[in-house]
Amino acid sequence: ESACAAFAAKRPVSQRLAAEASRVMPGGNTRTVLFHRPFPLRMVSGEGQVLTDADGLRYTDFLGEYSAGLFGHSHERVHRAVAEALATGLNLGAHHLDEIAFAEAVCRRFDLDLVRFTNSGTEANLMALGAARAHTGRSRILAFHGAYHGSVLSFAGGGTPVNAPYDIVLGEYNDVAGTEALLDRCGDELAAVVVEPLWGTGCVPGSAAFLSLLRRRASQHGTVLIFDEVMTSRLGPKGYSAWLGIQPDLKTFGKYVGGGMSFGAFGGVGAIMERFDPTRPGALPHAGTYNNNSLTMKVGLAALTEIFTPQACDDLNARGDRLRLHLDALFDRLGARLACTGQGSMIAIHPRRPAVRTPREAEQVDLRLRDILFLALVEEGFYLARRGYMALSLAITDADCEALAGALERAVLKHRD
Ligand code: PLP
Repeated sequence: ESACAAFAAKRPVSQRLAAEASRVMPGGNTRTVLFHRPFPLRMVSGEGQVLTDADGLRYTDFLGEYSAGLFGHSHERVHRAVAEALATGLNLGAHHLDEIAFAEAVCRRFDLDLVRFTNSGTEANLMALGAARAHTGRSRILAFHGAYHGSVLSFAGGGTPVNAPYDIVLGEYNDVAGTEALLDRCGDELAAVVVEPLWGTGCVPGSAAFLSLLRRRASQHGTVLIFDEVMTSRLGPKGYSAWLGIQPDLKTFGKYVGGGMSFGAFGGVGAIMERFDPTRPGALPHAGTYNNNSLTMKVGLAALTEIFTPQACDDLNARGDRLRLHLDALFDRLGARLACTGQGSMIAIHPRRPAVRTPREAEQVDLRLRDILFLALVEEGFYLARRGYMALSLAITDADCEALAGALERAVLKHRD
């Protein structure tokens, strides 16, 4: 309560704007995940790693737009690519040159035979699931409790009323024996297994045993294995599947790959993707007004090939690994009830020690402590997800990481009890 009061006292403009927004959007909100109490921060600008809110307060941005903001804010090369797109006219309503170059770059980078673009990661997953259903002639899908594959494919708490009405069987993430038993029961009925190789919501890596079980059994049952790499593709120069050495049949993408523009893509083995070839009899339909929009195609190409080079990817993930280990050592030293999970540039701080290993464990943490930590970091000038999630951008420096550790130490000492 006192943390909320302190937050509100310093942010009269955000508070007034929250009330104004509520007149035109339910709860003043159009992205549920950004809402937090007592009212959400309202940002007005971003430059590099710094966000400025409507009250003129500045924050180091460790949220990185849930991994989509990989390039930092207002990156000069991104702005130049936007200007280039504007110069040739937006959305020509036709095939054009930029989509070929971008598709080539995405296929090469992430080891795909063929790719198709969408407007969001949600759509990419919906299309990949549709392709798997058409390819196998089956309808059931194995997903995992707690997974988020998009606004209509969310399995936190077992699912939501707005989910797409697929025939979903839910397994438990990282549960090898349980998943094996489930596959024994219904493996032959499955069109697809869809899984994040690292559970993005809480940054928990899938174990090698779990992910290779899925690979092995999907092949055995003639089921399409889909890796949702919407967040994780930043974790290795050729994506996270390649980094793990496990190749799914289809991969889905989103977030930063479009250079910060609206973006999604799905792709993988030619035999499945060719079903979308319009010259084939019975081809699968896949329209979408903005699928090949010039802005995303041009900016995505520049960002993927000129900014997030394989070397930049390795450097960013090394920085993330250093930060995660540093924070965990700090929590150890302080005897704090906190622990980090993650891999490379994706990190989550959970109010639980030892670290969570599954989405179920992440659901059982002390939510009050989580909110206190979030508000304490905001007061220190750090922005991250309320649930403790962070995705480093290329603009974040080692000094920013040091400063975050300092702020966490002060927050822990202040709220010890
Ligand atoms: N899949 C994962 C793993 C995600 O994290 C997200 C977004 O947070 C999505 C899919 C959905 O992507 P989008 O928000 O672009 O629809």
